[in-house]
Amino acid sequence: MAGNRTFTMIKPDAVASGHIGAILAQINNAGFRIVAMKLTRMSAATAGAFYAVHKERPFYGELVEFMSSGPIVAAVLEKDNAVEDFRKLIGATDPAKAEPGTIRALYAKNVGENAVHGSDSDENAAIESAFHFAGLEVF
Ligand code: UDP
Ligand code: MG
Repeated sequence: MAGNRTFTMIKPDAVASGHIGAILAQINNAGFRIVAMKLTRMSAATAGAFYAVHKERPFYGELVEFMSSGPIVAAVLEKDNAVEDFRKLIGATDPAKAEPGTIRALYAKNVGENAVHGSDSDENAAIESAFHFAGLEVF
């Protein structure tokens, strides 16, 4: 299955704005199959651990605060070339630079509160999926 799965989160801004349904529809319409999904909330400690790779970046504190500020939808998605195709579907980190029609262009507020997460490699997709889901929760 290597290369066919990615991990996503619908972030607190998009959940609070009522965009869960629209974002999931866009994900399904792009050909991704949802193989794991839950509504959950990360504590600051959990968000800090999830984003540990960004520990030294200047935005780390704000990112941890934002990602633990409310519920998220965590999901594992399956499709050929899932990681790369999903990054295309969500668009650039900064919505001002995201292609029109991408999820971030449509729903992100700014470079921090940017509606969705998408894994950046097959290796990280596997690590991030295992961070949020037990084996029995992935189908
Ligand atoms: N982020 C931020 N300020 C920045 C860059 C990133 O607040 O200048 C946040 C944003 O929520 C982003 C996350 O940190 O999605 C992880 O950053 P990364 O560079 O990995 O962007 P992504 O892979 O999410 O596009
Ligand atoms: Mg990233």
